[in-house]
Amino acid sequence: MMLKKILIANRGEIALRVIRACREMGVASVAVHSTADSDAMHVRMADEAICIGPAPSNQSYLHVPAIISACEISGADAIHPGYGFLSENAAFVQVVEDHAITFIGPSAEHIRMMGDKITAKETMKALGVPCVPGSEGGVPDYETAQRVAEEIGYPVIIKATAGGGGRGMKLARSAAELETAFRTARSEGKAAFGNDEVYLEKYLDTPRHIEIQVFGDGKGTAVHLGERDCSLQRRHQKVLEEAPGPSITPELRARIGKTCADAVAKIGYRGAGTIEFLYENGEFYFIEMNTRLQVEHPVTEAIFGVDLVREQIRVASGLPLSFTQDDLHLNGHAIEVRINAEKLPNFTPCPGRVETYHAPGGLGVRMDSALYSGYTIPPYYDSLIAKLIVHGRDRPEALARLNRALGELIIDGVDSSVPLFRALLSEPDVQHGTYDIHWLEKFLAQTL
Ligand code: ADP
Repeated sequence: MMLKKILIANRGEIALRVIRACREMGVASVAVHSTADSDAMHVRMADEAICIGPAPSNQSYLHVPAIISACEISGADAIHPGYGFLSENAAFVQVVEDHAITFIGPSAEHIRMMGDKITAKETMKALGVPCVPGSEGGVPDYETAQRVAEEIGYPVIIKATAGGGGRGMKLARSAAELETAFRTARSEGKAAFGNDEVYLEKYLDTPRHIEIQVFGDGKGTAVHLGERDCSLQRRHQKVLEEAPGPSITPELRARIGKTCADAVAKIGYRGAGTIEFLYENGEFYFIEMNTRLQVEHPVTEAIFGVDLVREQIRVASGLPLSFTQDDLHLNGHAIEVRINAEKLPNFTPCPGRVETYHAPGGLGVRMDSALYSGYTIPPYYDSLIAKLIVHGRDRPEALARLNRALGELIIDGVDSSVPLFRALLSEPDVQHGTYDIHWLEKFLAQTL
């Protein structure tokens, strides 16, 4: 029953992450790579590797025919998409399944449902998940936007239904700003995602970003693995994540966790998923669901002692979940920092040759990275080069451990976001966990 050979349609640290799970499970792994990635670590570490095209993503990591061919040539019986690239592309999942290859993730139908934010919100609302007040579905024209904005009150945010990665979202603080926000969100949605449909939401002033990890077996059983607080963001992109959330009590966790697990159980969701909320004044407001493994999944793995990729592979093989809700108990506190190859103060991407790389170690330290000494970071892809995850018995211990581990880390030759994390660790708000989604932008404006 268990899958025998998995092709990983991704690169970098997440490709290594999947290869590691495969190896521990006795499953063969196939790496795919662009010509720019011939020397990449995932190519070296997999059992087999196939070049699928030139450097640009749309000719390699996003090139569906090349990926399907690589599957056929290698005899892989499944594809793990990682995150980004094709991981939330319903049309890709359909093609994979039409070729009798197992997609390690949810059904094309569920990906499509959650990929359209209006449909996602309507679905969640119907499943009893609390949502941000806003328009009923899409807002077809500016006049409707005006009417809805007056009803719910300013400030409001206009969002492209197809949006993602922080794009296609525009804030209107007052009626005077609405027209520009409406038109910009529409044109951004059209330009970036080929869909100009937008909707309107109340803009929350000081929320935290709290997301619930869920896992379904695809047959109507699902569990939750608590929350992650990802409030430290720059341009709507997460920078540091932690679990459990400093503001979430066991009672709140159990309540929102059950709501989420019940919702995905009801739709027969398969595999890993994340339900994202804004959390303000004790209330949760759904914003979107991600139908894949998240970058920040390791903080959840640390506190629950589970391997989420192993679980994904098991469920894709048709096996039941290896844990029930009652088996899941969280232990201690975990923090992840996303280390990017970028130069402060403008966060300009900074690819190039890494002369020396030395990863931190010791108790409670996990480094997920595809770096090695002498590796040249290519300019074509995401600037994430490493994730440092620490686990301690409590939050102060995790913070001290993070500081200690950052001190051991050596990445020579390229600039990285490490100095930012060292600076953050000496901030009282970070030490006390008292920050909302706007805290980091304010901090950067003052400090840089
Ligand atoms: P994306 O798909 O682009 O990541 P999300 O809907 O997940 O977009 O929102 C990303 C981030 O944008 C959130 O974490 C939050 O910081 C901000 N945001 C989204 N909706 C609202 C809202 N209604 N009020 C305030 N901030 C919001």
